[in-house]
Amino acid sequence: MSKFLPFKCDLDNFIKDLQTRIKTNNATVALLLKKEKKTYDNFVKPMEMMEESLDQFFTPLSHLNSVNNSDKTQDIYTKSLPIITEYATKLSQNIDIYNAYKLIYKTEKMLLNDEQKRVLELNIQHFELSGAHLDKKTKERLQEINIKLSELSNNFSQNLLDATNAYEKIITDEKDVAGIPPSDKESAKYEEEGVIKYKFTLQMPSYIAYMTYGQNAEIREELYHAYVTRAPENAIIIDELLSLKNEMSLLLGFENFAQYSIASKMAKDEKSVTSFLDKLIVNSKRQAQKELKELQKIAPKKLESFDTAFYSEILKKEQYDIDEEEYRPYFEQRSVVNGMFNFLNKLFGIRFEKVDETLWDAKAFSYNLFVENRLKARLYLDLEARESKRGGAWMHNWQTHCLNENNEEQLASAFIVCNFPSSSENTPSLLRHDDVVALFHEMGHAIHHMLSGVAENEVSGVNGVEWDAVEFPSQFLENFAYEPQVLKLFAKHHKTGEIIPDIMIEKLVKSKNFLSAMGMLRQLEFSLFDFKLHSRIYQGEEVQDLLNSIRKDTALIKTPEYNKFQNGFAHIFAGGYAAGYYSYKWAEVLSADAFYAVVDEGIFGSRTAKKYRDIILNGGGSKSMELLFHELMNRDADSDKLLRLNGIH
Ligand SMILES: [Zn+2]
Repeated sequence: MSKFLPFKCDLDNFIKDLQTRIKTNNATVALLLKKEKKTYDNFVKPMEMMEESLDQFFTPLSHLNSVNNSDKTQDIYTKSLPIITEYATKLSQNIDIYNAYKLIYKTEKMLLNDEQKRVLELNIQHFELSGAHLDKKTKERLQEINIKLSELSNNFSQNLLDATNAYEKIITDEKDVAGIPPSDKESAKYEEEGVIKYKFTLQMPSYIAYMTYGQNAEIREELYHAYVTRAPENAIIIDELLSLKNEMSLLLGFENFAQYSIASKMAKDEKSVTSFLDKLIVNSKRQAQKELKELQKIAPKKLESFDTAFYSEILKKEQYDIDEEEYRPYFEQRSVVNGMFNFLNKLFGIRFEKVDETLWDAKAFSYNLFVENRLKARLYLDLEARESKRGGAWMHNWQTHCLNENNEEQLASAFIVCNFPSSSENTPSLLRHDDVVALFHEMGHAIHHMLSGVAENEVSGVNGVEWDAVEFPSQFLENFAYEPQVLKLFAKHHKTGEIIPDIMIEKLVKSKNFLSAMGMLRQLEFSLFDFKLHSRIYQGEEVQDLLNSIRKDTALIKTPEYNKFQNGFAHIFAGGYAAGYYSYKWAEVLSADAFYAVVDEGIFGSRTAKKYRDIILNGGGSKSMELLFHELMNRDADSDKLLRLNGIH
């Protein structure tokens, strides 16, 4: 029998099947809770496998809804979400399960292995971070806070959206749109009473186009002013959000929200986050100043905040203008995929073999993954754009490696979805280099999931990996898409067979690192502001004061007083990034550090690469990434490696 589930999803009976499964699960939970003497084997394991089985059933639907979207998938998906949510919420608030986990942890601690202990620790922590274990009054207050928080976040983004949509700048003088690329110009153009006019807005492609190419500095300033003063009413929402998040953290036993946020992350304490960011600021600053000087040289007057994108573009063109079209013939989709497989084979000794099976689309393929000739996992690739697929690139895990109740091995599987140009019999799919990087990135996630050797599925593969470490394996792998040795395995001109010349690779790297120290400082400013803002209670003017004090170290061009960046910082006030924005840089350091260990050993044949496979990929979420990283490198992560990756000396 195949180790892998056949891909199928019966849309007509899906809701009925889901309801049956959930009913069975609820009955199973009730039965398990009645057990007199609960153990890991008779209680935790069946719970784990029950959840795994529901995931395996549900994933094909969410996958189809993303890659073959139709009214029908949407309808079924929308109908199933509340059913799943209600079930999951009930489980996560079931205090009897929490008590059972705690008891098993206490009585069996000496008998359990590390993976089993971690499953229990994470489950117990999950209950405690939601407050499910607290008294009734506290739980009620927490629930009120949660409802209020989601309302406030929602209002925050609504205000921002309204303000973004409310503004437009009409340009009538042809002179003022000179230099704007034809496609952007065309999108802005309209005709009114026989006159050609151009409309620029604060929406992303439009705003960026004028700030980057618009020659009239006054218009740039006007747009910039409008952009950074959007949604002033969000200032009050920020105060409320900060104070409620603080109250919530106190109720859950933390000193502040930052502490609550990192409780489930890899970073050990507040100090380790702030000193991590501070060090990067200090080490990037000198080069950022040099970069600014270079930029200043080409500007006729002292640079202002609304000038940087414009002059950066001119400088970039002067120094390393990259023509995408010149690169694409070297990145034919099939040879990129085969080249990536070949690279992974040389690096990790893993092998992919195409499977003959029918999937959801004729352009989707599956591959068996072998480690030293042992069947290990299955990968599904669906790489080309089509109308029914949502945009972007992603990895989605399906089966997870584990041992089931009968100690039988279950193998892992994962999907990689991209939106590359479509191919036909006569036209090959030619990728941009960015596409190649995206494919390597998602492959990094996929092998993190597929190469797991963990027996407990809740901490196997990408499951149970800390939020600030989950991008480590993906960024690690994407870095190789800039390495000459790797590119030369597959970047061959699809017509002539010529291997991509060194000079073209050099240009890719240089262009990636263009003004990188200035960019780094900006990201560090956001990260430090976010983290400090949540480490004690800031209200009213104190928010701006904090931002100003951080900018003393990070903003090389004085930010205008009217700039209220915080009112548009949706990542942390309307997304999930509060006291977590630092995670981007955190994971980048881990990946840069491990990457250079491999590069410095010559890449192929690298000892560290094998260790990476056996420790990081094999380990999945079974230990904190802190521990796994130490096993790999025998030391803490070195942030200088990130500077090296960005060409910052
Ligand atoms: Zn990712």
